[in-house]
Amino acid sequence: MDESAKLPPVSDTEATPMITPSEVIEYIYCPRFIYFMRCLEIPQFEDRRYKVLKGREVHKRRTKENREYLRKKIGATGKSLNVYLASARLRVRGIVDEVLVLKDGSLAPLDYKYTPFREMAFRTHRIQLVLYALLIRETYNQPVNCGFLAYVRDSSKLIKVNIDSGAEHETINVVDRIFKIVETCSLPGRTKYRVRCHDCCYKNICV
Ligand code: SF4
Repeated sequence: MDESAKLPPVSDTEATPMITPSEVIEYIYCPRFIYFMRCLEIPQFEDRRYKVLKGREVHKRRTKENREYLRKKIGATGKSLNVYLASARLRVRGIVDEVLVLKDGSLAPLDYKYTPFREMAFRTHRIQLVLYALLIRETYNQPVNCGFLAYVRDSSKLIKVNIDSGAEHETINVVDRIFKIVETCSLPGRTKYRVRCHDCCYKNICV
């Protein structure tokens, strides 16, 4: 696969309600984020997001040279960069950093993370990666048995994630729970990690 992946036309339509892998991250951080963003249409503070994005850009530039090394380590024989993927069936759309072709002909998502590796955030990143894997499988109609997370701040710590039926069910369940909030607009429970409320931009309206 070269840089311009031969993607078939996606079944996505602008009219189909969809969520993004970023929203999955928000949901796992606190289910109420989805309620405030999608039901009440109150965005998060833009300046905070800007700072986060700016920081990521700097790290992206610094770490570009490591990427070829990571692909070699994985054993990829081809790649496609910044691939837009969408599935009306899964109700998910997003852009994955890389779609890799592995030696056995299967495909795999590679997602770069610009934060240090943390056990707590790993579950979130793993579910996001599984979503990309399901999107790739459906879009290319090729087997996807694993995916990779590269934590580029930690000397490019590379983690392989198996895409098995357990991981798929867990991920589909998360998507279903998000859609339940979006469709019913019922206020979900708070995060059980109350420390997250301290610097939350919704703390003044979250009762
Ligand atoms: S204040 Fe706490 S419970 Fe409310 S949205 Fe923020 S993190 Fe979630």
